[in-house]
Formats: sequence, structure tokens, C-alpha cells
Amino acid sequence: MERLTIEVGSYEVNCSILSDAGQAWIVDPGSEGERIVGLLAKKGLVPAAILLTHAHFDHISGIPALQKAFPELPVYVHPGDVPMFGHPFNQMGGEYASIGVPANVRDVADLPAALPGVQVLHTPGHTPGGVCYFFPADKLLLSGDTLFAGSVGRTDFPGGSMARMMDSLQALMKLPDDTLVIPGHGGHTTIGDEKRTNPYIV
Ligand SMILES: [Zn+2]
Ligand SMILES: [Zn+2]
Repeated sequence: MERLTIEVGSYEVNCSILSDAGQAWIVDPGSEGERIVGLLAKKGLVPAAILLTHAHFDHISGIPALQKAFPELPVYVHPGDVPMFGHPFNQMGGEYASIGVPANVRDVADLPAALPGVQVLHTPGHTPGGVCYFFPADKLLLSGDTLFAGSVGRTDFPGGSMARMMDSLQALMKLPDDTLVIPGHGGHTTIGDEKRTNPYIV
């Protein structure tokens, strides 16, 4: 599996394009959907699905442009975050105008049938339906806004919970130390580094 991570939108979300044998999975197309469509074409990739770590505006606003180019493209999300699509929190306007509930939303619990080798870890705390995507063979974790390098996601947004965040972080710390972590924002890290230095975990 290959991975290309780009920063999209004014909230600088890390959007990852995972690919294998010409197929692509797009994680958190937070903005700049047309740029992502162009990148796929340039690399000769056909998208199989969109994967969301959670449904905050800064992680989803590129979906309409992707589904315009690829109308059947499914969107995998945890059911706990589906109400977030139409939530007032997501109505930021401009680049982040509300997109409503996208077409072809699928329960992320069904993702492993479509993308073998992925483990979907439910990590509530930042949002009720937050998930992390773990690829054991690649020792790769896409951690969304749950775990950042040296920090963790905010828990004061609608549906957030510091207690659940702490449980989620403890679960992530059980992953191998040499797991590469690509967070929803900012630079990458490893589980081992976070175990040693993250003030919310140490
Ligand atoms: Zn978020
Ligand atoms: Zn975010």
C-alpha cells in the first residue's frame, strides 16, 4: 500500500490518499476536493471510497467535489458522527459551507470487507463517532483529531468527552511503539514517542 498525505484547506487537515493496484482510498478530504480529483487523475488512481476519521467540517468539505467526479463513491463514517453532518457546528460558511449528509454513507464497521487489512478503532472523545484507521501490516495509524504529536484533540465541542478521550488514548497506546501516526493536523509521530512525551498520556 502506498500513501500520499497532503494538507488541505485553511484548517490544514492532513488528507491521506492510500493506494494499491490503481485503487485509492481517500481519508479526510477536508477541503480542496477538486485538487484531490486532479491528483488522482495525475497518478492514474480510481477512488474506491472516502474514509472519515470524524465528520467535522474541516475533514469533510472536499466530499461534494469528489462525488461530483465519482458519483457512486461511498463515504465510510461511524454512525455516531452521522448527526454531525447537518449540525450547526458544521455550518461555517465559505470554504466550509454545510454539505449536509453525503450520498452513499456507509457504516465504517463494514469497511474491512471492502479494504482488507484495515482495523477500525472507535476512539470517541473528540466526537462520539471518532475512529482511527490502523494498518498493522504497514504499522500505520491515521489518528484524526484524537491523537496529535504532543497533544490530543479538543473535547469541548458538541458530543466531546474528556473521559472517553482518555479511554481512547489508552487503547491507542496498546499499539506497537514503532507505529507511524499521521494525525488529522500537524506533523507525524509514533506511538512510542507519544507514550514517552505526550503530556496527556505520560
Ligand atoms: Zn475535529
Ligand atoms: Zn480537525
